[in-house]
Amino acid sequence: MAKKRGKRHSGQSDTTRARKPKPLSPRPESDQPPSSAAWARSVMRHAKRESPVDTAALASCAAAGIVTVQPGEALDLAAIDANADGGLDKEASKQALLVEHGRIQALQERLYAEHRRSLLVVLQAIDTGGKDGTIRSVFEGVNPQGCRVWSFKVPSAEERDHDFLWRYHAKVPGRGMIGVFNRSHYEDVLVVRVKSLEPEGVWRPRYDLINDFERMLTLSGVTVLKFFLHISKDEQKERLEARIADPEKHWKFDAADLVERQSWDAYQGAFTDALSRCSTSHAPWHVVPANRKWYRNLLVARTIANTLEAMDPRYPDAQPGIAELTVPD
Ligand code: AMP
Ligand code: MG
Repeated sequence: MAKKRGKRHSGQSDTTRARKPKPLSPRPESDQPPSSAAWARSVMRHAKRESPVDTAALASCAAAGIVTVQPGEALDLAAIDANADGGLDKEASKQALLVEHGRIQALQERLYAEHRRSLLVVLQAIDTGGKDGTIRSVFEGVNPQGCRVWSFKVPSAEERDHDFLWRYHAKVPGRGMIGVFNRSHYEDVLVVRVKSLEPEGVWRPRYDLINDFERMLTLSGVTVLKFFLHISKDEQKERLEARIADPEKHWKFDAADLVERQSWDAYQGAFTDALSRCSTSHAPWHVVPANRKWYRNLLVARTIANTLEAMDPRYPDAQPGIAELTVPD
């Protein structure tokens, strides 16, 4: 029998919540940064069907909780609240996510039609951090023809016979495409470092090599967008327990995750260094509070939509005289 979860966040079980919806009232504004308060209010009004959603207004509001690491900044991961929810509740977040889905779908079509540039989304997190769930939720409704997801596991013998970037470079999205890396070249300064799979003399120079690689990609028309899904150690325990308790989640459970959990602090240290050393002006890292899955999904979707919007992909010029053409019977 599956163990009930979620009490910590809502004070109610999922079953209770299904019968009696939570009221959609925003939290007190004093609890929120001003930029997100306007966003939360607008989304709440829309969720309560009081007003149509004002996409332009929403797009101009910052999303509370996400932290963009500044180049050279000494990052303190422990100081970032993994529970942040921007003053939204689950229902409002889901409403807001629909807005972002619409934006991503429309912009992806233009990116594909333009066929000049591409977007690479990099997802990193500790085990159970939510990379798979984020991909499932954020890319809902996106034309699969224009989007490819690559999951990087323990390197094969052939991959190990090449330089560490070889396997990742081969999967960088081509023109017009969105590519998603579920784990990435950062594993080579994360798991490799924590488990001493290579000596320090091998992994230490990789921070600079990664920066050079991403700069080269950027100069080649690839926008590199990097998300670190930040969960707390307690949240990981709950998620692992849920995988053990629920037979339908057994397939996701990997006993090795229990061993890796013992290296929690070493992983946090390795993430901190990777995010600090490899946040550049052209490819910054975004730390996403990820204990609340629904808010995590919204933040990632929103940042992708904003990035695509800033890229401003355009439909190519029409062939001259096309409007005068007629289709023969
Ligand atoms: P999962 O994503 O849970 O299916 O697990 C994939 C596993 O592959 C994780 O344990 C990663 O740490 C491991 N992995 C991914 N990339 C590398 C790499 N470059 N070197 C060693 N292990 C890796
Ligand atoms: Mg795993």
